[in-house]
Amino acid sequence: MKAANLTTNRLKKLRNTAASPYNRGVSNLQQAALYCSLRSDTGFSPEITARSMSELKPEHRLIPFEASSLPPGPWLVFAPHADDETFGMGGSLLKAHDEGRQTHLVVMTDGALGGSTEGLVDIRKQEVQEAAQILGIDSVDSWQEPDRGLKHSAQLVNKIMQKIQRVGAASVFFPGPLELHPDHRHTALLVWAAMQNLSKEAVAPDAYSYEIGVQNPVNLFIDITAQRTRKARAMAIYASQNDENNYEELVLALDKGRTFTLAAAVSHAEGFYRYSPEQLQLSLQEVTHNIIDLYF
Ligand SMILES: [Zn+2]
Repeated sequence: MKAANLTTNRLKKLRNTAASPYNRGVSNLQQAALYCSLRSDTGFSPEITARSMSELKPEHRLIPFEASSLPPGPWLVFAPHADDETFGMGGSLLKAHDEGRQTHLVVMTDGALGGSTEGLVDIRKQEVQEAAQILGIDSVDSWQEPDRGLKHSAQLVNKIMQKIQRVGAASVFFPGPLELHPDHRHTALLVWAAMQNLSKEAVAPDAYSYEIGVQNPVNLFIDITAQRTRKARAMAIYASQNDENNYEELVLALDKGRTFTLAAAVSHAEGFYRYSPEQLQLSLQEVTHNIIDLYF
């Protein structure tokens, strides 16, 4: 049999027995063996590939294969701009409200650079109030920091700490460290600094990052299949932003993409990373490097 045919047949076998690398029914070793044999047909040394495959961590060390129950309440979400809370974790906020958890929101910036509409700052303030009503959010603060102007400040870290303590948050959410917009990453670093200070307290809240515009490290999925339609309704409130791009479609595509490793019945999911108390002792940069190191 020619190598090409052999590869085709093995590919078929792989497809039948290990429908995808995410298939839960097939052991990781079995998949690794199949991949190694495929790779040996295409010129890779079987010994080298077998050795490196066995040393690499299996998928379940990198991503969850099951959706989780909701983190404990009250929740406090830090959003860099009005809309990030809805796009990033609107489904989970709805679910938290449905399950009786208190949820609170802080919008860090005034969002003045999110378009050229006159009176944009006031429009965005109004939009976040309307979206919060749909999502069942109990309180909304707009801190009105300059858009694209967030930077490290001891005063702001202090303000974040006080807010966390005032609402008695059990779970605190901030954007993932690999977000692209600098305000998103600054929000992550500011909240991280506040959480590090609070970790010395007797009862410290749990730290979670959520995804907004891109995929970030995740170790927790929330199934939002039942909340998807209402999330879309809340997203539609942000007309000032949706005129800039089709965010509704983009966000639902990201949520769909997060179901790769989940049961077929889960149509959409939101991804989070829950940081351990040990991780909170390190810098967010170091923690993120350690997560990426798991792939090698
Ligand atoms: Zn944003």
